Amino acid sequence: MNPQIAALHELQLRDRQLTNLERKLDAIPGRIKELDDDVARLETMLQGERRKCEDTRAFQRGQQAQLEDEEELVRASKAKMSQVKNARELNATQRELETTRKMITTRSDEIQKLQKGVEETEQRIAALQSDLDDLRGKAATEKERLAELRGKLEVKIAKLRGTRGGLTGKLDRELLGTYERIRKRLGGLAFVAAHRERCSACKMVTPHQIYVLLRRGEEIPACESCGRMLYWSGHFPDEQKDPAATTGGANEVAPKASPPQRRPVVSED
Ligand SMILES: [Zn+2]
Repeated sequence: MNPQIAALHELQLRDRQLTNLERKLDAIPGRIKELDDDVARLETMLQGERRKCEDTRAFQRGQQAQLEDEEELVRASKAKMSQVKNARELNATQRELETTRKMITTRSDEIQKLQKGVEETEQRIAALQSDLDDLRGKAATEKERLAELRGKLEVKIAKLRGTRGGLTGKLDRELLGTYERIRKRLGGLAFVAAHRERCSACKMVTPHQIYVLLRRGEEIPACESCGRMLYWSGHFPDEQKDPAATTGGANEVAPKASPPQRRPVVSED
């Protein structure tokens, strides 16, 4: 087998590790922002409930003041009753008293309803406050973990980058240039296995003549469909036990937009 194939293969393995680690590192700020956003969202909800509760209380106080005025009116009407001079005045005062009493009944009911509303809102506030305390604690723990993870990833990445030079040095300059170009263009994977006459990255069929070349292991042909450089999977039999090693990277590189509920768990491995 052409020794360049083994050298490229080794470089690709190393670069895949590097890309995976870099991606995990890149995901950390987003994860921290998500944690902060979650806390901020709950804080806003809590503020909203508190404001609502205050508004209801203010309205309730107003109703209470009106109720007291009406009760004063009743007392005044009763006092007037003892001083009426004729039946007409008596009728008018009685009507006045009746109307005020009806208003008092309606207003008392309203105040009771408001009180119930206030109590319910207070319960919601207490529950939200407890959720918020809980979330703040969890976010702080998770941020600590992420900071630690960031440190570990940075060390690993620096180590891998440091030894990369030893691998690229084994490659022909032109081959390395092609490899780097494809890697840049396609995001990570430039040298991929052809397995059972198919490119493992784009899954398109490899023409038979090319497959024959690949098996011979002298040349490094490109996939006619995706343009990646190919090697025959049979040259690295260990790799076939781990299908992710040959195909995983191609899809992994695409930035995945994850819905807010399902956060990618950022971990070291
Ligand atoms: Zn392909």
